[in-house]
Amino acid sequence: MTAKIIDGNALSATLRGQLAERAAALSAKGVTPCLAVILVGEDPASAVYVRNKVAGCEKAGIRSLKFVYAADAKPEEVFAKIAELNADASVHGILVQLPLPKHFDSDAVLEAIDADKDVDGFHAENVGALAQGNPRFIPCTPYGVMKMLESVGTALKGAEAVIVGRSNIVGKPMALLLLAQGCTVTVCHSQTRDLNFHTRRADILVAAVGRPKMITGDMIKPGATVIDVGINRLPDGKLCGDVDFDSAKDVAGAITPVPGGVGPMTITMLLTNTLEAAERRLQGEKK
Ligand code: NDP
Repeated sequence: MTAKIIDGNALSATLRGQLAERAAALSAKGVTPCLAVILVGEDPASAVYVRNKVAGCEKAGIRSLKFVYAADAKPEEVFAKIAELNADASVHGILVQLPLPKHFDSDAVLEAIDADKDVDGFHAENVGALAQGNPRFIPCTPYGVMKMLESVGTALKGAEAVIVGRSNIVGKPMALLLLAQGCTVTVCHSQTRDLNFHTRRADILVAAVGRPKMITGDMIKPGATVIDVGINRLPDGKLCGDVDFDSAKDVAGAITPVPGGVGPMTITMLLTNTLEAAERRLQGEKK
């Protein structure tokens, strides 16, 4: 069997075209959707992510503001900027690029963002809303994964979904979204006793670990849909996922590549959340 490739670039292009139309409709009503991005420090991967997010905004007709701080910036400076952006009615979304330098309390920073502008969906209020099955902003990466599953018509009701990784930004919200759609969800992590046992019975397998090629073809149920969230840089500079694509593609029914899979979808869903924030503001909808 050779798996169907779930092309994140192609799906993103389609969705971003629709987003550009929504942004134009908002602009025609006098509202220019606007995302503010805060970057602290010189982590090269974070700088690339921020650049891609800003470029994605521009192409979709979303205004972007970028604020860059040195790695030794005082947390108060960043809190002051967040307060200013919270109060600015022309800003609809605020994103602080993670990870922050060690002297920052990341949770406190995320909580400082107005929950109505929390387009990453990391504020406790939005995490709670998602857990209650009433999401307001869905974290972008798992949101993108759900769109990818939808695009290939993966059956969700009653499916065995196994997620490897339990982070707040990927694994946990992924589990909640799949659960809400009727999957039977198992979440694996570094203390899981027999990882293969779990992955081999997954109809839907999501890898979000950060270990190059750790999921090999023999760990996959024939015909499964495999979603590779991992982004790892190999010694030769090339990117690879958490899934060993070459062995996995012969077993899986559908699979996402790295690069060109979940990565572009994450940014697409960030743009989606920003537009939704702007549309809600226009409708005067409040929590
Ligand atoms: P974290 O480091 O926060 O979480 C990794 C998870 O993997 C943890 O829950 C950890 O378990 C688990 N884990 C580690 N080792 C093993 C193991 N041997 N077996 C099973 N589970 C294990 O990472 P993130 O969730 O932030 O990111 C995961 C990957 O996804 C990274 O490669 C990251 O770069 C990528 N990523 C990609 C995005 C995209 O847009 N495509 C967006 C966000 C992330 P424990 O909790 O027990 O420590």
